[in-house]
Amino acid sequence: MKILVINTGSSSIKYELFDMAHQRRLASGLAEKIGEHMSLVTHRRFMSGEEPVLKVVDTAIPDHVKGMHCIADLLMDPKEGVARKRDDIVAVGHRVVHGGERFRSTTVIDNAVMSAIRQNIPLAPLHNPSNLIGIEVAASLFPNALQVAVFDTAFHQTLPMRAFLYAIPFEFYEKNRVRRYGFHGISHACVAEEAAIYMDRPLGGLNLIAIHLGNGASMAAIQGGKSIDTSMGMTPLAGLVMGTRSGDIDPSIPLLLGGISGMSLKEIDELLNRESGLKGICGTNDMRDVISRMEAGDERAAIAIDIYAYRIRKYIGAYVAALERLDAVVFTAGIGENVPLIRALCCRGLKRLGIEVDPERNLAAGNGVREISPAGSEVKVLIIPTDEGLKIARETIRMLESRPGARR
Ligand code: ADP
Repeated sequence: MKILVINTGSSSIKYELFDMAHQRRLASGLAEKIGEHMSLVTHRRFMSGEEPVLKVVDTAIPDHVKGMHCIADLLMDPKEGVARKRDDIVAVGHRVVHGGERFRSTTVIDNAVMSAIRQNIPLAPLHNPSNLIGIEVAASLFPNALQVAVFDTAFHQTLPMRAFLYAIPFEFYEKNRVRRYGFHGISHACVAEEAAIYMDRPLGGLNLIAIHLGNGASMAAIQGGKSIDTSMGMTPLAGLVMGTRSGDIDPSIPLLLGGISGMSLKEIDELLNRESGLKGICGTNDMRDVISRMEAGDERAAIAIDIYAYRIRKYIGAYVAALERLDAVVFTAGIGENVPLIRALCCRGLKRLGIEVDPERNLAAGNGVREISPAGSEVKVLIIPTDEGLKIARETIRMLESRPGARR
């Protein structure tokens, strides 16, 4: 049973093909620079027991329709393909960034769902239009496959009002739906489920702090398996210090920037989303580079790391207060899974909250779920690799199997 997972951006399509009978990734890739003079498709094919085979295709891809055709051709190549024909793909799972307040869980896509995603465009003007294009193109290319939307915001729709409402005039919530939505929900949900499996306890009885540290970064306070608070807000700009995003700042700063330097709203948006965070402080957004510069004695890189970890530490303290009881802290994504220094700094001085990192366990290499708190700790500190693609594929299968008349 093959499931295609798609994440469509304004000029890119990320894709993964899964064989769900064996919960295995067959291929993955990225078509990028769509609409530009020269586009690029990087395609990886995974065969069991072999190194992934990489294929790079340079070609002009004028639009997403051509992009999807190109991807389908790679997946169904008579010699090197991983599927024989289009109908082998029984469902397509789409990552949709913003489900607003309407979507609290994964849904099968129909016309009403399309128009609801369209209505949420003002909340995610950069992402939802591309997601809609992806759905339309996939539906025309795979007309017999079920199209399913998995939302990045849905997991956080359980936030109570005290956590999602901003203290600005209430009418902006009523009329314009200005509130905290939170993002990275697919990843937070994925690692929460894996934590429950690892700890051999029902998710409904677990209180967790999930820390997703990739280029974007966010945290979630998860009580009884449900998100009760999260660090990103109405947009992904809020909360933690990220690669190029500022995270929390005094909300007057953008207003002052306009006054002080005459910057336009668009320029301020660009500054806070693309030129701030680690990059803004030390000039580099990739954590590997920031760390090697710090190790070479660069003071700006050192302060960037200090600020980065201090913000996370403060949020851990806040979420311990929100959760009242804590069972585990989970680190995930590129930085969370791979950088012992950041994990150690984030948990420094938190022993009185029951949170401690064992230096040796933290440094030990490994795959899969790893426990880095000392044996017998009150709170487990875990590294759990996130797999958003597989989570979307599993959600998609769940939708397929819950349809009336589905074979069980
Ligand atoms: P995203 O999916 O948000 O684009 P990732 O989860 O891939 O991001 O995380 C990207 C970040 O993780 C970058 O800052 C990168 O430097 C860091 N990272 C990834 N792998 C490693 C590693 N092995 N060592 C140090 N940092 C890493």
